[in-house]
Amino acid sequence: MTDVLIVASEQGNLPSQNTLELLGAARRLADATQGRVKAVVLGAAPTPLTAGLFACGADQVFRAEHPLLAGRQGDAYVAALAQIAAQAAPQVILLADDSCGKEVAPRLAHRLNAGMVTEVLAVEADGPAMLFRRQVYGGRAIATLAAQRFPVVATVKPRSMAPAAEQAGRRGEEIAVTLSLDPSLARTRLVQKVAEEVRGVKLENARVVVSGGRGLKGPEPFKQLEELAQLLKGAVGASRAATDAGWVPASWQVGQTRKTVSPDLYIAVGISGATQHLAGMTGSKTIVAINTDPDAPIFKVAHLGIVGDYKALLPKFIEKCRELT
Ligand SMILES: Cc1cc2nc3c(=O)[nH]c(=O)nc-3n(C[C@H](O)[C@H](O)[C@H](O)COP(=O)(O)OP(=O)(O)OC[C@H]3O[C@@H](n4cnc5c(N)ncnc54)[C@H](O)[C@@H]3O)c2cc1C
Repeated sequence: MTDVLIVASEQGNLPSQNTLELLGAARRLADATQGRVKAVVLGAAPTPLTAGLFACGADQVFRAEHPLLAGRQGDAYVAALAQIAAQAAPQVILLADDSCGKEVAPRLAHRLNAGMVTEVLAVEADGPAMLFRRQVYGGRAIATLAAQRFPVVATVKPRSMAPAAEQAGRRGEEIAVTLSLDPSLARTRLVQKVAEEVRGVKLENARVVVSGGRGLKGPEPFKQLEELAQLLKGAVGASRAATDAGWVPASWQVGQTRKTVSPDLYIAVGISGATQHLAGMTGSKTIVAINTDPDAPIFKVAHLGIVGDYKALLPKFIEKCRELT
């Protein structure tokens, strides 16, 4: 029996997309082992998240409010989660591999004397064993790790696991936890929060992603990609070569060291398909690649490959999409 505790976050008073993915993974794991799914909601003030967490698979919700938990302050989060984990006694603790999860998870594992796995792409119970899959060697291989010690704390790479399905009216047990947090434990404070500039659909949530790489040879052609993305109600992404060159914002980077996307359609324009880029987009349902080099590695993963110059192809493609939409 594996009880799984997930650390929830909110987006507009609802469970965030990352939280839905954690719940999806936790529910599958708990169902396979007759365990329970537990969720933690932390904050400075109560949130209306609980009903959404129950609807998406949580059996128990532990909620705690404390002024020190404002702004997802790491020191306070670690202390709060350690206290709640002691009460909830899960075998597995899942956090999103976002900035908060990356900071909190290893510290929490240390406090709990727990096992630790980062950037998990898949988790499954195999009899008594708990298996975690993650990329290694810069995305060239997938390692399967078997937990040797419980509890185990894991961070889950966003957009790598299927989100939980909502069951309206599903109920669970809400547990209000009183935390003992001393102000002296907060050794860092949030100085500034800069919201990522998003035009249209958020890249990691987009059903269609049109990405450009070094083959575009400058920032100007990205306007064509934006036009195409807008027609397809999608978002624009980029390879690291394009973001490092300063052609587009770093937040557009797809790949191992930035965002993982899994849209219905991924169009790669002038991108060679380095393993680090593939690590962030091979979960896409359909991949279309435009590249002048017939031997470009991107064609190994593309469902539809077009060998040619994007300058000749893209305007026609945009024109056709405009006609069809
Ligand atoms: C630790 C580490 C982490 C990294 N993380 C990431 C990451 O998260 N994401 C990422 O993307 N990269 C990452 N990289 C970089 C990665 O290794 C590649 O260097 C990068 O992805 C290459 O970008 P690119 O495909 O745009 O450029 P290139 O490899 O230079 O490819 C450009 C392509 O454009 C094609 N082309 C040229 N002209 C045209 C034209 N007119 N029409 C059509 N096609 C054309 C060329 O044939 C070529 O295939 C990482 C590297 C390291 C070492």
